[in-house]
Amino acid sequence: MSQAVCILGVTGSIGQSTLKILQQHPEDYSVFAITAYSRIKELVQICKQFRPKVVVIPSAKELELLQLFSQENINDIEVLFDEAGLEAVACHPDVDVVMAAIVGAAGLLPTLAAVKAGKRVLLANKEALVMSGDLMMQAARQHQALLLPVDSEHNAIFQCLPEQYLNVERNGQPKLGVSRILLTASGGPFLHHSLDELRSVTPEQACKHPNWSMGQKISVDSATLMNKGLELIEACHLFAISEHFVTIVVHPQSIIHSMVQYVDGSTLAQMGNPDMCTPIAHALAWPKRINTHVPALDLFVNHQLDFQEPDATRFPALTLARQAIQAGGLVPAILNAANEIAVASFLQKQIGFTDIPVVVEHTLNRVENGSADSIDLILQADSTARSIAQQFVSSKGS
Ligand code: NAD
Ligand code: MG
Repeated sequence: MSQAVCILGVTGSIGQSTLKILQQHPEDYSVFAITAYSRIKELVQICKQFRPKVVVIPSAKELELLQLFSQENINDIEVLFDEAGLEAVACHPDVDVVMAAIVGAAGLLPTLAAVKAGKRVLLANKEALVMSGDLMMQAARQHQALLLPVDSEHNAIFQCLPEQYLNVERNGQPKLGVSRILLTASGGPFLHHSLDELRSVTPEQACKHPNWSMGQKISVDSATLMNKGLELIEACHLFAISEHFVTIVVHPQSIIHSMVQYVDGSTLAQMGNPDMCTPIAHALAWPKRINTHVPALDLFVNHQLDFQEPDATRFPALTLARQAIQAGGLVPAILNAANEIAVASFLQKQIGFTDIPVVVEHTLNRVENGSADSIDLILQADSTARSIAQQFVSSKGS
């Protein structure tokens, strides 16, 4: 039977790759709802091709969308708006699968709504899980949602873990013979830059990732290694494992997407060409496998695999993220909020690249930790952290 898919963040890099997969499997999947925050022209082209039943946009874009719809003679698509619209499609009774591919904290409430509605949720929006880890995992268990990792590393880990791992008791200890998770990192575009060189890198350079083509925010996060920090927190929640069982390994070729070690001395790795269509297809069809256009790995071409330890001096974001998950509670949400402000300020050339972790650390030192067992507390910490980070950025500029 065909599955109805809702894509939150359809105009983004993950949204586009998801459409590529769905297009290859029209008998198995239909596009029920799609959402976009900007790029309304692209959204209308997607509507023409995929004919969703519902779209969600910011209300400020209504006029632009309706004009384009009338030019294209589209009059059979329902339009919903803003946060309420995002939540409504994420938990819509006709939706089977939700791709959570909004970037940043904006994706938290719709992702949680999908989880609470017991959907199959394909999780790309790592920030949502970083902010609300325990709450989101609890909601998934309570409402029997299938929360499947799309992030390539977590998808790789999931593929290397025993199948029963999703249902293990959650106390931070590795289970079922697992001893350690090796989370790989490409090291980003500045792997070999000195601290001095890092001070003057531009947003354009930061957004040019050597192996992956991604949205701007995650590209900058990959360059600071905050992406790996967020992924460390993501892994701890998804796989119910404490951070000291997760080792970060720099692997510049991005051929191995992560590994799992076992007590008997085995190390299992998932390998493939770096293309997000593979983890998306895996999460979409799991436990089945479906075709993608991604070519199989040719080891005679991709024959060199290098590994090294990450350098915490040049990339302090890693240490901040590890401290955040150790502290628990609201600290990961505070880290995430401060990082979102710092990355946006760097992209607008208000601060330098090496100021990003400085803004994050400043904010972490000023917002009090507390219990993260309600969404209101999490959103309150997010908002306090944003204003403190923003004030610090403004004070640096003046
Ligand atoms: P992107 O910037 O290309 O796309 C983001 C999408 O979110 C767009 O559709 C945009 O319209 C929407 N959006 C942005 N702000 C919004 C808001 N305030 N409200 C509603 N919608 C909003 O980002 P991306 O690279 O596709 O990444 C999406 C998520 O997936 C991120 O959390 C990222 O960390 C994660 N991820 C991405 C990749 C990748 O290869 N691109 C890999 C792993 C994980
Ligand atoms: Mg990743």
